[in-house]
Formats: sequence, structure tokens, C-alpha cells
Amino acid sequence: MRIVLLGAPGSGKGTQAALMVEHLNLPHISTGDLLRAAVKAGSDLGLRAKAVIDRGELVSDDIMLGLLEERLSRPDALGGFILDGYPRNVAQAEALDELLDRLEQPVDEALQIDVDIEMVIERIAKRAKQEGRSDDTEEVVRNRMKVYADQTEPVIEFYANKAILTRVLGQGDIDDVFQRIKGVLQIRSES
Ligand code: ADP
Repeated sequence: MRIVLLGAPGSGKGTQAALMVEHLNLPHISTGDLLRAAVKAGSDLGLRAKAVIDRGELVSDDIMLGLLEERLSRPDALGGFILDGYPRNVAQAEALDELLDRLEQPVDEALQIDVDIEMVIERIAKRAKQEGRSDDTEEVVRNRMKVYADQTEPVIEFYANKAILTRVLGQGDIDDVFQRIKGVLQIRSES
């Protein structure tokens, strides 16, 4: 199964993706993680990306598509994947569509984790203490939320129009949310 996970920063995508990985035995492809690895490795791309990430802006569509193509071409992605952090705007959604059409591997399910913004800000503040991410300061988080509302929310509509979008309530504890997701995946795998 090829799954796209959608949701605001701090909506719990990464946490739920980790549970889904175990449940479905599919690789978790997080563009945020791919970028952070590039930054850590000190590659050219990583250095260029870091400044953008630290402002809470989006890295250019070209760079992202290159990174994603490289990752999707690895053998472990052939049997499906859980994509987290991509697409983040409609141009990326269209590019992904084109790429997967070419590979004859279209997205099966777009899963939106729906959360309350206040809750998300609380969660990120907590994560900032635990992980020390340089883009988790209040000002940058506010900008990430704005970028999400302006650029990423239209992606939800994009998948709704394809009739593969399901909205899951992201409130409650981790396992409650995961049970909801499992229910959705069960239905999708039977259809
Ligand atoms: P979040 O918690 O905001 O969902 P991620 O770990 O997914 O965080 O991403 C962190 C940052 O990496 C983003 O704010 C953005 O700068 C960059 N990034 C990740 N994925 C993409 C993408 N598909 N397109 C552009 N930039 C991206």
C-alpha cells in the first residue's frame, strides 16, 4: 500500500507513521528526516536547506523532488511506503502524481491527521525541550503553521478530489489515534 500522511506540524504524523511501519511492514519515508540527515552530513544540499528549514519555510520543490525520487527508487520502497512530509504544496502533489504514474504505483490512501492548533503548539513546545530541533522555536513554529495553512492545506483538497482522502481525528492518546488509523487502513485494503 502507498500511503501519504497529511497533517499540521506537530499533528503526530511521525509517531503514527512509526506505529504504521510496524503494523504494515512498510518503510517510513519522512522528507523532514531526509533533510535533517542531509544537514547532519554537511552535504551541499544540506547546508542550503538548513537556512530555509530554520526559517520555517519550504525547501525548493526541485530539491525535494530530487531527494524523493532518489529515496523512492531504493528497493525497499517497491512494495509500498508511508510518505510523511510530502507533498507540502499543490505543485509537489502534482509532481508526485506524475512520478508515481510513471512508475505505475499511484497513491492508494491519503490520510489526514486532524488536530486542534492549540494542542499542536503545546506538543511542539514539549518536543522542543526533548529533541532540541532548531526549527521548534515559537517564532519559527508560528511561521510553519502559516506555511501549512497557506500551502499545504490545499493538498488535502487535491486528494479529496481524487476520492482517496480520509480524515482521522488526531486528538486523544497515541493508541486511540492509531486504532482509528488501523480502521481506515483495513477498509482501504478491502476496497
Ligand atoms: P513538521 O514537524 O513541521 O511536519 P518535518 O520534519 O516534516 O516537520 O519538516 C521540517 C522542515 O523541513 C519543514 O519545515 C521544511 O522546511 C522542510 N521540509 C520537509 N519536507 C518538505 C517538503 N516536502 N518540501 C519543502 N520543505 C520540506
